[in-house]
Amino acid sequence: MTPTHMTPEEFRRHGHAVVDWIADYWATLGQRPVTSADPPGTVAARLPAGPPELGEAFERILADLDTVLTPGLTHWQHPRFFGYFPANTSGPSVLGDLVGAGLGVQGMLWATGPACTEVETVMLDWLAELLDLPARFRSTGTGGGVIQDSASSATLVAVLAAVHRASRGRWRGEGLDRRYRVYTSSQGHSSIEKAARIAGLGDTGIRTVGVDPDTLAMDPAALRAALEADLAAGVVPAAVVATIGTTSTTAVDPLPAIGALCREYGVWLHVDAAYAGAAAVCPELRWSHAGLEHADSYCFDPHKWLLTGFDCDAFWVADRGELVEALTVMPEFLRNAATESGAVIDYRDWQVPLGRRFRALKLWFVLRWYGVEGLRAHIRSGVALAARFADRVRADNRFEVVAPHPFSLVCFRLRADDRTNAELLRRVNAGGRAFLTHTRVRDRFTLRLAVGSPYTREEDLAETWRLITGAVPDEPGGRA
Ligand SMILES: *Cc1c(COP(=O)(O)O)cnc(C)c1O
Repeated sequence: MTPTHMTPEEFRRHGHAVVDWIADYWATLGQRPVTSADPPGTVAARLPAGPPELGEAFERILADLDTVLTPGLTHWQHPRFFGYFPANTSGPSVLGDLVGAGLGVQGMLWATGPACTEVETVMLDWLAELLDLPARFRSTGTGGGVIQDSASSATLVAVLAAVHRASRGRWRGEGLDRRYRVYTSSQGHSSIEKAARIAGLGDTGIRTVGVDPDTLAMDPAALRAALEADLAAGVVPAAVVATIGTTSTTAVDPLPAIGALCREYGVWLHVDAAYAGAAAVCPELRWSHAGLEHADSYCFDPHKWLLTGFDCDAFWVADRGELVEALTVMPEFLRNAATESGAVIDYRDWQVPLGRRFRALKLWFVLRWYGVEGLRAHIRSGVALAARFADRVRADNRFEVVAPHPFSLVCFRLRADDRTNAELLRRVNAGGRAFLTHTRVRDRFTLRLAVGSPYTREEDLAETWRLITGAVPDEPGGRA
């Protein structure tokens, strides 16, 4: 039997049906439970044990989305999804991704898809302008930007380049000859620890730096003490990873002081702004990026709060030569005249995998559809909704807001013990009317509410606050 490829005409018809399905999904999101209450294995049990022997009608495949899939989903675009950080998407992002999928380009080298590389370089320069990033990150100088799949990958390649630099190339050549260390605050993301492990530094290659007890931002004096102690012990400081908007509470590390220390000690400074970086599209929120001119590398996730669907992390380096030197390997089968001329960017040398897809398309679509003002309006709406929610929390003396909320995350708790707070969160999420997650702040159970869905309105927060206050356990497990 010959394979039954989908013809362009069939694709046109089924493609329209898929777009209709997605539009209906978005239009009805608010009526669905945010999370599924089904036990593990429920979705898997709805699937046949093996693939069909003969191909099926497309209508049957599409119909199963409603019966098999959506009942078992957490709806991340839901107007009352307030968990973790947002991973918002948008119409233009999905359509840009669709075009990229249709083109099916593999852009590992400039030569394997010149437009794939050049659109990406220009989009990262556009983004740098949008966020008003330091000039040293632009591709027109020694720097440049690249799309990574995630902030975790951005931090990994930053750490690899930093270790390459600190070891004067030994890391790449014969391997590590001494102990190298990466510094981050106690609030740094788990991906930093993972990066140190993958780079070969081991878990002991991470040095955790203390924070200011009020702001939860890295304490520069503690960083200096850690650097001094390590140098005295013969350990080589390789990188400091500072955070703009920590995952737990959106604390902002003091980059001016940290950057000055990195200069003084000759240490690579990587800045992780995975979620809060998007805030810098608004001039009034750019205070959070003060001191960024000290950074050797910086990343943020348009896929979190900038309406560009997962996956899309934007990563910049001040000196692309160091990054490429750390990561490049040139097998014969990839040799080509454009690469040899030195006039082109080969993004394979800026990331861990060789192959890469055309992710810049969705950024191009999003930036053009919204424009700078449209993106600012999105960020401002999230910040304003979060601020109003925090006001509600403060106005109820059973509750307290436990950390500053400069962006769209509010951390709050009942003035009660951890068990009562955990029970409150369980009750709020149980009905599927809203979804929040938790963290520990100063070692106490804390609820997190992060605004980010483009569908979220004031009434969604009003309803969620009613839900929360109505779920307060009336047998508090004791005042704390
Ligand atoms: C979300 C987050 C990350 C990880 O993001 P991925 O893109 O999923 O890897 C890293 N750092 C911070 C501060 C984050 O909030």
